[in-house]
Amino acid sequence: MARIVDKPYWTFSAYNACTSGIQVKCPKCRAEGVVTADDKHAYFRCMSCGHQETRDRTIYHYDVHNQCKNCGRYYRVDIEEESKQCFSVLHVACPYCGVIMSGEVHKTAEAYSYTAEIMDGREPYFGFELWFLTSFQGKWVWAINREHLAYLIEYLSAVLREKPKDGPKKTQADHLPTFMKTAKNRERIVKLLVKLYET
Ligand SMILES: [Zn+2]
Ligand SMILES: [Zn+2]
Repeated sequence: MARIVDKPYWTFSAYNACTSGIQVKCPKCRAEGVVTADDKHAYFRCMSCGHQETRDRTIYHYDVHNQCKNCGRYYRVDIEEESKQCFSVLHVACPYCGVIMSGEVHKTAEAYSYTAEIMDGREPYFGFELWFLTSFQGKWVWAINREHLAYLIEYLSAVLREKPKDGPKKTQADHLPTFMKTAKNRERIVKLLVKLYET
């Protein structure tokens, strides 16, 4: 427990959904569930009530493109309002002459959504609350999963912290907010984390 060699920067992040999973609270029964993801989808499953959710991670682009019946020019109108994106045909105004006509809505896969980070104690895939979540002086203290929690406890309890020898310059601990690393808070935060670990 005296010294610890830190882990590379991205060891624990929302990307964990693609590897070991993120532990979250089930939106139905508040018991423990897990969020996992691959390139195309994110998945949630609850270990207690069996509730499951899947989310498409593809970002689609919607537009109506056609040749204007009035001015003859080819136009493209992007459909950005989510409420309109479910229609297969929409009335749009030609951007050149302003004449309104109906056109087929085209849906194209544009990209895969990039992975946002943990925000306000919630994972970015479904927005579910993290399972290992507590607060210290009004600030969120959390871990993505049990492995991450164990790392935090070990890291913050260590007397000597070393960066990995040949690894990247930025390490996992660089993610940690300063208030967690401050000497005067560390002991109390470790206590909170240990409590979480034991639940
Ligand atoms: Zn549940
Ligand atoms: Zn026109």
